[in-house]
Amino acid sequence: MGDRPAETNAILVRYDEIFLKRGRRRYFLDTLDRNLRRALKPFAGLDVLRPHGRFLIQQRGTRDLFPPPPIPEAGRVVRALSRVFGVASVSPAFALAPGLETLQREVPPLATSFMEAGPATTFAVATRRVDKLFPLSSPELNRELGSLVWRRHPELKVDLARPDLKISIEVRENGSYVFCEQIPGPGGLPVGSNGRVLALLSGGIDSPVACWSIMKRGVEVEAVYFHSFPYTSEAVKDKVHALAQEVGRWQGAMRLHVVPFTAIQRACRDNAPPKLLVLLYRRFMFRLAEAIAHRLRAQALVTGESLGQVASQTLSNLDAIQRVVTMPILQPLIASDKQEIIRLAEELGTYEISIQPFDDCCSLFVPKHPSLRPRVADLERVERRLPMEELITAALDGVEVL
Ligand code: ATP
Ligand code: MG
Repeated sequence: MGDRPAETNAILVRYDEIFLKRGRRRYFLDTLDRNLRRALKPFAGLDVLRPHGRFLIQQRGTRDLFPPPPIPEAGRVVRALSRVFGVASVSPAFALAPGLETLQREVPPLATSFMEAGPATTFAVATRRVDKLFPLSSPELNRELGSLVWRRHPELKVDLARPDLKISIEVRENGSYVFCEQIPGPGGLPVGSNGRVLALLSGGIDSPVACWSIMKRGVEVEAVYFHSFPYTSEAVKDKVHALAQEVGRWQGAMRLHVVPFTAIQRACRDNAPPKLLVLLYRRFMFRLAEAIAHRLRAQALVTGESLGQVASQTLSNLDAIQRVVTMPILQPLIASDKQEIIRLAEELGTYEISIQPFDDCCSLFVPKHPSLRPRVADLERVERRLPMEELITAALDGVEVL
């Protein structure tokens, strides 16, 4: 028995090959490497290795030690790794010393312990041979190890197509890895590989999901929230902060820029017909967001808008709002249904926070039926009456960073 590991002592991390096509392989992998290390920060003493085509997590300093020592809290480590964008799947594994005899000796008892974790009536052995000098081919190894497992567990039937228990083995030069689970990762691209954006984050359901969706494409996200104290309470700011933290975990952390918005809303209220207010507010939000984005060297704005979901999200209104900025505006949810968005929000853990009651600053001083087809000229006429420069500069000067 001797060197059979009793616990997970290696974790395999796979990425999709798709994003590696464009000659940027090294760049993407270096970014993913960095992000994996960041996800491992809470777990001291682990190292990220890069055998060909994979990442491999082991205890630090055990690269040449076979088998390496067990990884403490492996379940939690696996969960943390499976939340890193760019990761296709994660497998807690048992690393074994090299050689056929080790596999013959250790795979059958490992099968037993896999069955203790989840009962099975059918099984299969699937070998991937990276070490091309290994004496047996993959099909030969499958047959050999399969028959040894079956001798120990004659109650099992072989099912190559859909086994209850799939014993996967990767045979590498310096050792073999045995595992039975593949926990899916979020896919996407490693955050930081695709620039930076500024997301407009409200206390609602949609915008946190929009942040997540754009992070998934490898983009680093910062957030801006427009706060109308005392019309919207401090509790709302705390709520938005909590949302930023929750969704920010997917990229490590996320900065939140809080912009004082009260003076602008009062100025609009005092100078415009109520039915134009929502659009005026939102034009201000975009102007301010663009100015902050420039400061942060962010290259685009992100919103949680979904076409037709509310009055301000008709095509004409989106046009009237967005034409005040030149920066690209990304709307990852533009074609999503509310139900799909809610389902994602539930998975991300933001839904619970979003549904806590809050006052939306866009409904401040606003009638039940805002304009659906504004004339841009009307909006511009109001804005000519306002001290635009002054209002915008004052708001930008009051930005608080959380
Ligand atoms: P959400 O659920 O994200 O609040 P929504 O369906 O309520 O979206 P709107 O209120 O029209 O839609 O807002 C559209 C988008 O504008 C939001 O998704 C968000 O990106 C941005 N937004 C709205 N209000 C604010 C605010 N106070 N601060 C920052 N961004 C905001
Ligand atoms: Mg909202």
